[in-house]
Amino acid sequence: MITIDYKALKSALATPAKIAIIPHRNPDGDAIGSTLALYHYLKQLGHEAVVISPNEAPSFLHWMPSFETILNYEIDRELAIKTLEEASFVFTLDFNHLSRVGHDMQVNLERLKTTFVMIDHHQQPDSYAQYTYSDTSICATCQMVYHFMESMEDLDKITPEIANCLYTGILTDTGSFKFAATTATTHKVAAALIEKGAQNATIHRAIYDTNSPSRLHLLGCALKNMEILSEFHTAIIHLSQAELDQYNYKKGDTEGLVNYGLSIEGIVFAVIFIENAAEKIVKISFRSQGSFSVNEFARAHFNGGGHDNAAGGRSDDSLENTIAHFKTLLPNYKNQLEK
Ligand code: 5GP
Ligand code: MN
Repeated sequence: MITIDYKALKSALATPAKIAIIPHRNPDGDAIGSTLALYHYLKQLGHEAVVISPNEAPSFLHWMPSFETILNYEIDRELAIKTLEEASFVFTLDFNHLSRVGHDMQVNLERLKTTFVMIDHHQQPDSYAQYTYSDTSICATCQMVYHFMESMEDLDKITPEIANCLYTGILTDTGSFKFAATTATTHKVAAALIEKGAQNATIHRAIYDTNSPSRLHLLGCALKNMEILSEFHTAIIHLSQAELDQYNYKKGDTEGLVNYGLSIEGIVFAVIFIENAAEKIVKISFRSQGSFSVNEFARAHFNGGGHDNAAGGRSDDSLENTIAHFKTLLPNYKNQLEK
């Protein structure tokens, strides 16, 4: 764990400043929840804060408090760059390396002379920030933002808006409080957030009960495509661009599909390969159960990373070749996948 010198940060933030807050590209509930929570907090401290997202967030997050204030770098690039240049602080949340915002935005962040603050729970954090709070044992960046406010001695500044944002990220990054990183502290923080006004049942519905018929048909297609490689305790799913088009794919529709593989008895490694024709890549999600590190696997073979049990990566090859290549790697991990 790496921690912040809070005394120094508090005095740096003592006068009103312009502050940009950045989640990772393809932001999820934890990325949007943590950045919007921080936005509400910093505004209360008298700062002029703006969340700049590298690209669009899925529609099941659009209800979040002040979501409409988020600048989309892909759509409002000029304004986003101007905002970054004028900022005295840049907070980067829920990612460990500037490459996670995408190449063009990364270049524009790297040339800033601004003070960076990083709050993140991914492994192997980079050291670009003057203030880094990194803890890979914590389930969600949203839980870290709660501890951050605690260390700033500002828990009393948690409004219902902040509570709703933080609860959302904890909910989504723990798979509804079921993943291994969910601790007693996580539940205590969640309970405190409910006391501060987080509407837990409403949030759950807003995030998970948003299926459309076409999304469920896409789920059916994904499950039909599932292949079990029992020798390696592995389940793989693939979706081609043609299949995504057939079922009217919208951003967020493939969220969580990879977990179906892991729900099968005896499976410890689950993977989904999703073709993205526009970006000419195959996006890959890896999940594992137990000691097999998908972070290491994604780093070693698919230009990615993440956590021990949940990671992502990509391939510039075709969908077929990517899957074929993946299968050639498995024998090297046979022992690790036995456990
Ligand atoms: P997902 O599979 O849900 O996209 O991501 C799982 C985890 O891996 C998340 O914590 C996410 O931030 C991380 N992740 C996803 N894609 C990448 C990637 O390409 N590179 C790195 N370093 N991390 C990733
Ligand atoms: Mn996260």
